[in-house]
Amino acid sequence: SDHQLVYPPCPADMDWGKHFSSSPATPEERKVEVADIGCGFGGLIISLPKVLPGVRMLGMEIRTQVTEYVDERIRALRHLEGGEAYGDVGVIRANAMKFLPNFFERSQLRKVFLCFPDPHFKARKHKARIVSPTLASEYAYVLAPAGVLYTITDVEDLHLWMAKHLDEHPLFERLTGEEIESDMCVAVMRNDTEEGKKVERNGGRKFVACWKRRVDPEWV
Ligand code: SAM
Repeated sequence: SDHQLVYPPCPADMDWGKHFSSSPATPEERKVEVADIGCGFGGLIISLPKVLPGVRMLGMEIRTQVTEYVDERIRALRHLEGGEAYGDVGVIRANAMKFLPNFFERSQLRKVFLCFPDPHFKARKHKARIVSPTLASEYAYVLAPAGVLYTITDVEDLHLWMAKHLDEHPLFERLTGEEIESDMCVAVMRNDTEEGKKVERNGGRKFVACWKRRVDPEWV
């Protein structure tokens, strides 16, 4: 249950300074631009700075102990590397299926990652999946036009489910295979997430699909 979770009433009320060590720490100057939804043990956000230096990125994870582990991992890396290293990487405990717009303003994010989300195999559990028409609209709301929603899973049924809902959404346009392969973040997602490594060890398949956030259509 997530009844102990605390949400900011609106993005402006978030105290981002305590999650990042890089300066300037004021939210007006440096906003989170990348969100890793269900970040697990943090492999993606720890590796992404090598391809997205100087970009603020936030892992969101619902499990308390896992969030604490990632927080300690980031702090240890900052200490080890010194300077501003990993100062733009942060993690918070949150149920990303709820209140995402309380954390991020409209069009704030450039990239949202859904890496190996829980599959919720049974039909009656499908409503717990991280992609639905409603959640697709929330991702579209927080993503800037031309921003990218990344998905990867080893469960083909979940891949088809996410693809169906995002293909059907008027504000998302699927990236071509070429666009996907030329995106450096895709390699990080495939190889540096803990789940990606596990699937690799077990010789499993990884289904990748990405969507670009369309510009809002003109109202006529
Ligand atoms: N993304 C990581 C990776 O690729 O290694 C972890 C994948 S793991 C299978 C799915 C993660 O999503 C778990 O750590 C789980 O606790 C988290 N999670 C599930 N539902 C969530 C929610 N509503 N909000 C935030 N995190 C969630």
